[in-house]
Amino acid sequence: MTGNGKIGNRAFIGLGSNMGDRMAYLETALREITAQPGIRLVKASSYYESEPVGYRDQDWFINRVVEVETTLAPLELLRVLQGIENRLGRKRLIRWGPRVIDLDLLLYGDLVLTGEELTVPHERMYERNFVLIPLNEIAPEYRHPDGRTTAEHLQAYLATAPPEKIRLWTG
Ligand code: ATP
Ligand code: CA
Ligand code: CA
Repeated sequence: MTGNGKIGNRAFIGLGSNMGDRMAYLETALREITAQPGIRLVKASSYYESEPVGYRDQDWFINRVVEVETTLAPLELLRVLQGIENRLGRKRLIRWGPRVIDLDLLLYGDLVLTGEELTVPHERMYERNFVLIPLNEIAPEYRHPDGRTTAEHLQAYLATAPPEKIRLWTG
């Protein structure tokens, strides 16, 4: 890894918002992520607008995925993300319900972890085109802990699931 001599881990974060000024929430969240010591932005996807899944009676989301290099441990990184969600006013009222900001830790190097507080790769990421499509934009060749690339995961998803609606956000 490059940078100031520090060896970091590659991690991917999924950002989503479907309340209020969605773009402003996404931009503020990314600014706060990259202002954090121990986190450096490597790449950010385009913005995508996606149909809600799980709980459908809510507005469309704007989503993106970013790649960071980080010296933080996985749980430290998760807590940074949760701190930003809380500061931006995230409330948990309905499971998979509307939210001003959602920051999910998708992947952390080749780490595999199954815990209630933190599961990586994110438990539901391979069923979500609002994760796989932006991730495939920035890291198609990235090899996941199961040995498959992002492009292979996206292909597998598209072959089995009727894709949820998603489109590039053009403002
Ligand atoms: P989903 O997890 O299906 O995307 P959600 O984002 O709406 O749903 P939250 O309410 O944001 O769910 O998070 C619920 C819990 O998930 C949190 O308490 C958090 O500790 C836990 N969690 C486990 N793994 C992860 C992960 N990889 N990234 C973010 N949170 C995680
Ligand atoms: Ca989520
Ligand atoms: Ca979440």
